[in-house]
Amino acid sequence: MQIDRIELADCTSPERVISEILRQLPDLQIPVPIEDLAVAVGITDIHRMTTQNFEGGLITQPERRDGVILVNGTANRLRQRYTIGHELGHFLIAAHKPGTSGQFTCSKADMSIRKAGRDDRYKRMESEANRFSAGMLMPLPMFKADMRSQGAPDLQNVVALAARYDVSKEAAAIHYSTYHHDMCAIILSQDDIIRRVYKPSRFPFVEAAIGKPLPHNSLSSGSQNSEAEWDEVDRGVWLASLERPSSINEQALSLAGGWKMTMLIVDETEDESEVDEGFRDTFDVWENPQFPSKSRRR
Ligand SMILES: [Zn+2]
Repeated sequence: MQIDRIELADCTSPERVISEILRQLPDLQIPVPIEDLAVAVGITDIHRMTTQNFEGGLITQPERRDGVILVNGTANRLRQRYTIGHELGHFLIAAHKPGTSGQFTCSKADMSIRKAGRDDRYKRMESEANRFSAGMLMPLPMFKADMRSQGAPDLQNVVALAARYDVSKEAAAIHYSTYHHDMCAIILSQDDIIRRVYKPSRFPFVEAAIGKPLPHNSLSSGSQNSEAEWDEVDRGVWLASLERPSSINEQALSLAGGWKMTMLIVDETEDESEVDEGFRDTFDVWENPQFPSKSRRR
C-alpha cells in the first residue's frame, strides 16, 4: 500500500483527507486494513500499552515527519481499530495541535465527542479525529452502496455492516442512522435505561431522554428477543404525539450485556397520502378556510 503524503498536506478536514486517500487507493479493501494504512502514511509503530490512563495517544512532531500511535491494549479489538483511526486523524489533519504535554493523549470520553462549539478547539479536534476514524473505517462510497443494496432500514443490516466493516455495532449504528437514505433513529439502552440516541437532524425530536427508562409502552421495554422484531407503536411513545403520522415503526434487538438496540422509523409517505386524500382537522379549517388539498400541517 502506497500513499503520497504530499497530496494529503493540503486537506484540512477529515472528509477531504479521506477522499484523497480513497482517490489514491481506489481498490481499498473492506474491512479497511487500518494498521497498514497507518504505516503507509508514516506511522512507524503501533504500540499497545496496558494502561487505564488513556485510550489512545500519538507521538509525533509538528511537521509530522513520522509518528508512533499508542493504543490501550486492554480494550477490545474493535475499539483498538477505532482508536488507531482516531490517532491517525490527529496525525493527518495538520491543524491538530497536541496539549501542553506536547503529545496527543486521548481518553475514552474523547473518542465519543461528536459535536463541538465554534470556540472549543480541543473538542473540535477530538470530534474531527472521530469523524476521520468512522469515515475511514466505513468509507461512505462503499457504505452507502451497501446500505442501498440492503434496502429499507433494519437493525439486522446494522449488525451485518458492523461485521463487514469490522467496527463495533455502535459505530455502525451511528454511521447508519446518519447516512441512510431512509430516515431512521437508533437508540441504545442498557438494562432498559436509555444510553444513546443517534438520529439525523431531520428526524423528529425524540422525547425519551438519555438516563431515563425506555418508554414503558414501547416494544423495546418488554423485548428480550435476539431476533430483531418489529411493531407499530403510537407516535407519542417516542415522539411528540401531535404530529403526523400518528404511529411509527419500532424495531428492538437484544444484544449482549443487557444492551438493546432500538430503531425508529417515521413513514413520511403515509403522512403525504393522508394529506392528499383531503384529511382535515380543525387546524386546517381555522388556519386556511380554502384548505388546498396539498397544504401541510405544522
Ligand atoms: Zn484524540
